[in-house]
Amino acid sequence: MKKIVIIGSGIGSITATKALVKRGIKPLILDTGNIIDKDKLEIKNKLKKLNYNDWSKNDYNKLFKKEKNKSIFKKQIFGSNYFYGKNLKVNKFSDNSEIPFFSYAKGGLSEGWGGAVLSPDFEEIKDWPIDKGNFEKYLEITLNDLPYITKTDDLSNIFPTYTNNNFNLKKSFATNFVINELKNKNNLTNLLVGNSRLLTRINDDSNFIKCQYCGRCISGCVYDSIYNSKQDLEKLLENNQINYSDNIIVKKLINENNRIKIEFIDLKSNIYSSIYADKVFLGAGSINSTRIIMNSNNYFNKNYDLKSKGQIIFPLFSRKSLLNNWPHTNTQPDIYMEYKYNDEFWTHTQINTSNDLFINIFPSIISQNKIFDYFIKKLMNHFFVAHTTINSFNSDYYRMFLDHNDNLNIKLINNNKTLKTLNNIQNELKVIFKNSNFRTINPLILKNNISLHNGSSMPMSINPKDNETNIYGNPKNFKNVHIIDSSILPSLPATPIGLLIMANASRIATEVNLNE
Ligand SMILES: Cc1cc2nc3c(=O)[nH]c(=O)nc-3n(C[C@H](O)[C@H](O)[C@H](O)COP(=O)(O)OP(=O)(O)OC[C@H]3O[C@@H](n4cnc5c(N)ncnc54)[C@H](O)[C@@H]3O)c2cc1C
Repeated sequence: MKKIVIIGSGIGSITATKALVKRGIKPLILDTGNIIDKDKLEIKNKLKKLNYNDWSKNDYNKLFKKEKNKSIFKKQIFGSNYFYGKNLKVNKFSDNSEIPFFSYAKGGLSEGWGGAVLSPDFEEIKDWPIDKGNFEKYLEITLNDLPYITKTDDLSNIFPTYTNNNFNLKKSFATNFVINELKNKNNLTNLLVGNSRLLTRINDDSNFIKCQYCGRCISGCVYDSIYNSKQDLEKLLENNQINYSDNIIVKKLINENNRIKIEFIDLKSNIYSSIYADKVFLGAGSINSTRIIMNSNNYFNKNYDLKSKGQIIFPLFSRKSLLNNWPHTNTQPDIYMEYKYNDEFWTHTQINTSNDLFINIFPSIISQNKIFDYFIKKLMNHFFVAHTTINSFNSDYYRMFLDHNDNLNIKLINNNKTLKTLNNIQNELKVIFKNSNFRTINPLILKNNISLHNGSSMPMSINPKDNETNIYGNPKNFKNVHIIDSSILPSLPATPIGLLIMANASRIATEVNLNE
């Protein structure tokens, strides 16, 4: 039987793994696979068995107390940065590199993601070299294999839901109020407002429990109700459908007699080793997959461009109280607002009407003084947040190269259009919020290195050049290596990219000829 190896356990790798398992394959996953500290995991597992009203303050503080963080926009899970990758001796970045988010975690970045999904407007990805009808089939397969909640609404015509599901979380007064205000006070044909689409359980299944409305979605889901790829990985392991090795840093792939030699460092022993595979599916995330391919092709000092997305954060104030019931609520984004800018492209806005971040900004006051606690909660009833993203064509990007000493150099490159476009969009969205009686307070344009969505460093193309891949993610010179993460997406639309990564990984792992 052919030996199939998958690198990484992020959403790309695990979606590909599931497709291969369906084909009767038992693949081996090689992964760095960091997990949260044992102490925190023990507390999480203890709290998971309890109703959140019964959590002790001591356990709660131990689990959610924040690690030192340079940026308030760097989300932590259970007060920890564990799911982000860092500078490693064996995988170094050169000094002064501006490093976007990447992951060495079991489950990759999905360990800390928001679980927000939305299919793209196909007009925006019409230059992708893959067949629309075929890709839609994989969007549907992917979504229907996940705990996916969505409702048919104003967005569905342009951003199809690909399911007959018509489920949603319990909607609060705030959600319905904000949706109605945005829709009714703005009579615009280029504005669509509706419910968010989330990968969140609203029913118990054999392995996981449904959302308990505990109000801590942004700080880590104790109940594992928000989907991440580690959950599927653990199910596959339990069912003996895969083999898994962690503490591995894959460094290089080498073609040898029609097989692939995978060279890696075992982080436990610090020993350089290798194994052979007939096919390799590479899903180490856009930065690490690109690095592995640069090294494998001996492409030193050769530039690869990694796309990202410009963002605007709008803190918003509603004169009418939103009767926020925090913490007895779900705090994932509850509203999507799609706004077509200049008749050119869609911007994507996620709105959180109830947000534990606001409460966390004032934790010391809240925990120390009951009177302040009361007033802050009253005040917070009037605040909410909107987060807007734009596509990669109009955004800054990163330029990466690997030097001869194996240091990865990454620099942010300004796209001349970015700031002007973000400013214009900000002004137009401000009018929409104002018409709805919501005041914006100092919107923040984020154009530096905190983009949550990165990719397209080795885009798929019909006639791939050196830095590109073919439609099955094969990089130049490697017909038995298929890249399956965000690095091969030809562009990044404004909508969340996770669904695109998964559907594309599913397509590749289902369609490639494993006997070649
Ligand atoms: C805070 C945050 C919130 C987000 N929210 C959303 C959201 O709501 N919706 C959405 O669609 N997207 C969201 N994203 C983006 C999304 O999480 C990522 O685009 C996606 O998870 C990337 O998946 P991936 O499979 O490409 O790679 P990754 O998640 O980066 O996984 C890489 C995997 O490879 C392994 N690995 C890395 N290097 C090596 C190596 N050298 N050898 C072996 N293994 C290796 C790692 O251990 C990891 O398992 C968010 C991102 C962040 C940071």
